[in-house]
Amino acid sequence: MTLNTATKSTLSGDTPAAIASDQGSAAATSSETASTFQIEPQDYSLDGYAATLAAYKTAGYSVTSFAEYLENPAAQHLILRHDIDNSLEQAMRVAHIDAENGCSSTFFLRIHARGYNLLELPSLLRIRELTQLGHEVQLHLEGGIHDWIGGSPLDSANQQRRIFEEAVGRKLGGFSSHEPARMGGIDFANSLLTEWSDSVRYHAYEARFMSPNMKYLSDSSGRWREGHFGLWIGKEPLLQVLTHPIWWYERVPAENY
Ligand SMILES: [Zn+2]
Repeated sequence: MTLNTATKSTLSGDTPAAIASDQGSAAATSSETASTFQIEPQDYSLDGYAATLAAYKTAGYSVTSFAEYLENPAAQHLILRHDIDNSLEQAMRVAHIDAENGCSSTFFLRIHARGYNLLELPSLLRIRELTQLGHEVQLHLEGGIHDWIGGSPLDSANQQRRIFEEAVGRKLGGFSSHEPARMGGIDFANSLLTEWSDSVRYHAYEARFMSPNMKYLSDSSGRWREGHFGLWIGKEPLLQVLTHPIWWYERVPAENY
């Protein structure tokens, strides 16, 4: 592509603007984008996040919620997931960026978060706004509490499901586990798929959504173990990318905590 551009400019005397636009269209192919998109491995700027989503779209990926992936999977598909551990307010910034870049995503919300109450009015309005932006809202399921206050893990999970369904006004469709290593792990989540098969179609840690079936990248603890997800464009056809909006900022982390 570089040779082609150079030849053109020599022969036709293209203006710099025309050359730049030619280079722009060259970058629209998957391989070009994979080799040209640059981002620091531990970048947490929202500008970099938005540019990464745009680059995936340019490279031909569908970037969607779990629900849209299950309904209409593409050959190149990135499932975009956000676990909302403590602030629904911070989730909204990311929700708008996703929508502005033509992406949908799945927001998993907790029942027992100390930073937000799913049934307070601001939360109900935000759930409605997330849906209006085209996003999916599901349950971020957690364990451990009933080890202390009594009741079985299944009792606790059923309680969380009931309260979530009251808040969103519909049946639960999927869930992700909060701190799975500390809450009974993936086996318990898998058992709930059978228990809840009346309406639940998936949980986020199912093998079909994880490596090696699908490249799984996460910003857990504010650190990309395998580099920023923008470094994976064109390298894997199928990805699940998990972000926690608390780690992402416009200028400084102090915006969030
Ligand atoms: Zn979590």
